[in-house]
Amino acid sequence: NLPYADGDFYAFEELLSDKERDRLLEVRAWLKAEVTPHAADWWNAGEFPHHMIPKIAELDVMSPVYRQGHSNLFAGLCHAEFTRADTSFATFLGVHDGLFTGSIEALASEEQKAAWLPDIYAMKKIGAFGLTEPLGGSDVAGGTRTTARRDGDNWILNGEKRWIGNATFSDWVVIYARDVADNQVKGFLVDTKTEGYSATKIENKIALRTVQNADIVLDNVVVSDDFHLKGANSFKDTNKVLKVTRLAVAWQAVGQQMAAFDVARKYAVERQQFGKPLASFQLVQEQLVKILGNTVSSMGMMVRLAQLEDLGRAKDEQSALAKAFTTARMRESVALGRSILGGNGIVTDYGMAKIFADAEAIYSYEGTYEINTLVTGRAITGVAAFV
Ligand code: FAD
Repeated sequence: NLPYADGDFYAFEELLSDKERDRLLEVRAWLKAEVTPHAADWWNAGEFPHHMIPKIAELDVMSPVYRQGHSNLFAGLCHAEFTRADTSFATFLGVHDGLFTGSIEALASEEQKAAWLPDIYAMKKIGAFGLTEPLGGSDVAGGTRTTARRDGDNWILNGEKRWIGNATFSDWVVIYARDVADNQVKGFLVDTKTEGYSATKIENKIALRTVQNADIVLDNVVVSDDFHLKGANSFKDTNKVLKVTRLAVAWQAVGQQMAAFDVARKYAVERQQFGKPLASFQLVQEQLVKILGNTVSSMGMMVRLAQLEDLGRAKDEQSALAKAFTTARMRESVALGRSILGGNGIVTDYGMAKIFADAEAIYSYEGTYEINTLVTGRAITGVAAFV
């Protein structure tokens, strides 16, 4: 029963409505009971716990009611809470609920949404988001080599995608491909059972091992024009999705630091050296306080951005700075946490090793630290350091 057990040192949660706060506590308790105790086993096995999907659906964190009835602060704090319990679990949800569902919500026609979204919200259909390619990572706008060719009422897709989360088992994947006619990047909903589509699991990851990332090959995959996302007709459209999901990743960096603080503080209080708890040494207290300061400053930034989102005023460069800043703070925090656990910081039994390793994936996906820094740099100087 340590002070500030909820990790909310500056009482940001008081900004939620009573209903939202109750719901956050409910989600926190569910994650503590259902996810945290098993997360290291799932991670060590490198397998996704499919039996959890109906349970997440039951928790109802995806329904339109959840999305429309609450503030962005609530949604952000919930996502941080998922990450605090297990980053892989939060990433699974971030891909299905954020990147995939976000693509449909932002870029599909009203008819398409009506046909697809109910099953997606109920998690009867699980989705993935196929943008990155083997040769197109940071330069994904220019580097999209997957092609889409119109053929009567159909499109023919050819190419390769890399790193696609959930894609080893998802029912659907949104594929972004370059139309050979006008050279623009367009979006398509692809049924993963379609002939010519294959997804191979990426093995030997040292981060987010529970998340199933895949290399995808599209070999003359035929997609009806009914499955072309009607609002996805250039990379600018794709960017509408990334602007929002980038914020969710910054919330993950907050949750990751909360997790590091939880584990490191408990360990420092319990572990004895020189006849005293580690927590009694001033240098260890300073390390814990640095993690706390990093977490609080990251959270403060995200709280204000969530308010700007509610007002419809959040800008691309603000999302980019948030992603760069919070993930940089996170990298320092998890390294300090790992150090506090000494040797036990490198085995997954004590929680910290997984937190430390998973942070590396958060640092690199949804635009690396460098790319988000350059997006912010362009906004404040008017000069683009990249094309
Ligand atoms: P590269 O672009 O090759 O970059 C390598 C290094 O060079 C980085 O440090 C980068 O910052 C730096 N660099 C590149 N260009 C510049 C520049 N102009 N100036 C300065 N530095 C530069 N993608 C999807 O589409 N769907 C997914 O579901 C998905 N999930 C992912 C899950 C994981 C675990 C990972 C690791 C990645 C995932 N990605 C996904 C892809 C991810 O978005 C890319 O890995 C990321 O954009 C970086 O691309 P890259 O790995 O090709 O690195």
